[in-house]
Amino acid sequence: MIESNPLHTPHCAVSRRGLLKTACGCIFGTALTVPMTSPAMARDKPRAVDLSPNEALELLYAGNNRFSAGKPQAPHRDLERLKEIAPAQKPFAAFLGCADSRVPIEILFDQGFGDLFVTRIAGNVTTPECIGSLEFGTHILGAKVLYVLGHTNCGAVAAAVKGDPVPGQISALFQHLRPAVKAAKGDVAVAVQENVKTQATLLSEASPVIAKLIKDGKLKVAGGVYDIATGKVVPVEL
Ligand SMILES: [Zn+2]
Repeated sequence: MIESNPLHTPHCAVSRRGLLKTACGCIFGTALTVPMTSPAMARDKPRAVDLSPNEALELLYAGNNRFSAGKPQAPHRDLERLKEIAPAQKPFAAFLGCADSRVPIEILFDQGFGDLFVTRIAGNVTTPECIGSLEFGTHILGAKVLYVLGHTNCGAVAAAVKGDPVPGQISALFQHLRPAVKAAKGDVAVAVQENVKTQATLLSEASPVIAKLIKDGKLKVAGGVYDIATGKVVPVEL
């Protein structure tokens, strides 16, 4: 559950931390005159170790606000950043997202190299391999938020709702989508939302490693639905 609604929070107020204010383009409530694409400003972003789970979540929503407003900073996407993080990565958020080509997670949250640890699979379903990947991203690498991202018009969810025969091993995904499909009663949009809740719950409870990080206050699990037509991520209450 999200305590506040960062989607409707002005960028200047998203955090009490000075570093975050800099990352959001504001200092002491005054907009910087530095261009939004300034590499120097992008490099001021704090590393995962400096953030609380709530602050990490706020950074994500601030990035999506920039992206969906058509004003991305596109940070951390140059060769200098590559060299900086080549020795070690410290992503501040981990993701379970869909493989859909319209849902490039770094772009829609306005992040760059080394910021997000992303696991993508059609229908954003939790398989043992995905859990292992996300345990690595959180427990080993230190991501502070574990975010399950569904999206509108998801082909995998729609196919599972429809239930028609599919070729090859596509139907292997359906078993993971079954609880959401059952709860949605034929409505694909509802099934997408339910699936975010189902997968977030699974990640929170099926992995003792992730459950302990949550219990210790080192990790927050959150979820949302990305609208592929507007670029906006709408939080889902878990
Ligand atoms: Zn999808």
